[in-house]
Amino acid sequence: MKAMVLNSISAVETAPLKLEVWPIPIAGYKQIRVKVTGCGICHTELDEIEGRRKPNLPIIPGHEIVGIVEKVGPGVTKFRIGDRVGIAWIYSSCRKCRYCKGGRENLCDQYMGTGCDANGGYAEYTVISEDYAYSIPQIFSDLQAAPLLCAGAIGYRALNLTEMQDGQTIGLFGFGASAHLVIQMVKYRYPDSKVFTFSRIKDDSASLLAKEKGADWVGITGEIPPEKLDCAIDTTPAGVPVVEALKNLNKGGRLVINAIRKETSIPELNYTEHLWQEKEVKSVANVTRRDVQEFLTLAAEIPIKSEITEFELKEANKALLFLKQGKYRGAGVLKISD
Ligand SMILES: [Zn+2]
Ligand SMILES: [Zn+2]
Repeated sequence: MKAMVLNSISAVETAPLKLEVWPIPIAGYKQIRVKVTGCGICHTELDEIEGRRKPNLPIIPGHEIVGIVEKVGPGVTKFRIGDRVGIAWIYSSCRKCRYCKGGRENLCDQYMGTGCDANGGYAEYTVISEDYAYSIPQIFSDLQAAPLLCAGAIGYRALNLTEMQDGQTIGLFGFGASAHLVIQMVKYRYPDSKVFTFSRIKDDSASLLAKEKGADWVGITGEIPPEKLDCAIDTTPAGVPVVEALKNLNKGGRLVINAIRKETSIPELNYTEHLWQEKEVKSVANVTRRDVQEFLTLAAEIPIKSEITEFELKEANKALLFLKQGKYRGAGVLKISD
């Protein structure tokens, strides 16, 4: 099979993924083999490739996978050949520890990330345990569904962690693959709430997309929104938005940081300005299978529309570079087969 493979840590600018021919993986006990039709491009891949989240090399990246079950291993009962499935960032967890048993398998010490700790979807085939695959609602095309599996699912987890209520204001720092899905959830679940978005550059493609998706105010990080924020989600790779979000929070407000790593450090916090008055800050780490399942159901109900930019498998380096440079709107997706 063809696969885009990362053999060593390197800057994305050096086109580090190589097109290689690998043996088609074998579906083991309770595993399914999936013929990949599409795989979303996630910011976490930049962190893996550039070494901020260490991958298990050599690795086939990609954790927003949609495809068709092409082979079932022994003991598989949940899926049949021909079923359409999705695979998300959670590849496996131990299922025994206090986190796994307490509904927080995302925090498991033995958590494995798809396309980072085990091979992912930048390839024609991949394998996964049937317990970590999901049926994709019919209304979504394969490529439209791909970004839902991480950008959407982790956005759902982040939004839940804000504990937002209808009528409250929310600030979205960064408006890429995740936030453009989160805003659709907010508008559906909290119709009386206002959404304020913060981009890097005035009137860039992200800002225009935020306006199209119904943002009540579109600004850049550093600007003061028209009202204080009851909650905020930061999906940027930078440190400054953390301080900016805390500064603009209402009393008792909560900031949720949705980033696996920050590329620049967080500026010094001033207790009075950024934390006093019971302001809270929380990060979001990984996803649970329940997040993915619940989000896919909600996404179909809304129904969420993902903005995608298509690339071919062999263009993965270009797609990742464009992501780093903020050159496309919404989510990038590799179209791997029909
Ligand atoms: Zn991701
Ligand atoms: Zn565990």
